[in-house]
Amino acid sequence: MSISENIESIKSNIPQHVTLVAVSKTKPNSSIQEAYECGQRIFGENKVQELTKKYEELPKDIEWHYIGHLQSNKIKFIAPFVSLIHGVDSEKLLKAINKEGRKIDRKIKCLLQFHIAEESTKFGLSAEEAETLLNTGILNELKNIEICGVMGMATYTDDKTQVANEFKTLKNIFVTLKIKYFANDNSFSEISMGMSGDYPIAIEQGSTMIRVGSSIFGERNYAKH
Ligand SMILES: *Cc1c(COP(=O)(O)O)cnc(C)c1O
Repeated sequence: MSISENIESIKSNIPQHVTLVAVSKTKPNSSIQEAYECGQRIFGENKVQELTKKYEELPKDIEWHYIGHLQSNKIKFIAPFVSLIHGVDSEKLLKAINKEGRKIDRKIKCLLQFHIAEESTKFGLSAEEAETLLNTGILNELKNIEICGVMGMATYTDDKTQVANEFKTLKNIFVTLKIKYFANDNSFSEISMGMSGDYPIAIEQGSTMIRVGSSIFGERNYAKH
């Protein structure tokens, strides 16, 4: 199937309130252009250099999401245009993003990344770490950051029950944080979970945003995990 057929097929199978982020990492501009032509406007990348190059070369109404692990010294390259940073998992990174946002007078949208998988290699906060962080009142100082919700990745396994449970954990973290820290904050509303292999399960568990790469663009030329 073509890229546009893949997108149409995914869109017709997900609820309207779920946002599709087309993960275009490693893929050429021509592939992104094809997705763009069938109406896709949100794309996800995980390398700063690749993202800035694509931003410069492709239509300016694309919303670019950064879905990788972000190094503090590279934030400045994406700060002027990035629509959402999915993987924020430390106070240090929050402060560094805020600093870059302040320099250019821009409020940068972020998701807090949680470690929900069994695998120890994945990045992310625990629920306790997030609460400790939020209890410091840090967000009152970070005027150039908007926390829009949470993000997580499930274990790479065929065990659907395990995957569902991990997504359920992230949903519960979202609900708890919403009640305790973001009750009056409408922008805290996103649960970014679900990739090509597990997005139907993620949606069942309350995902509002799925990040799909290979099911749209085909396999990438390197190991996924
Ligand atoms: C690569 C990547 C995806 C997309 O993975 P697919 O399995 O190709 O859909 C989603 N989220 C993150 C954080 C990624 O790095």
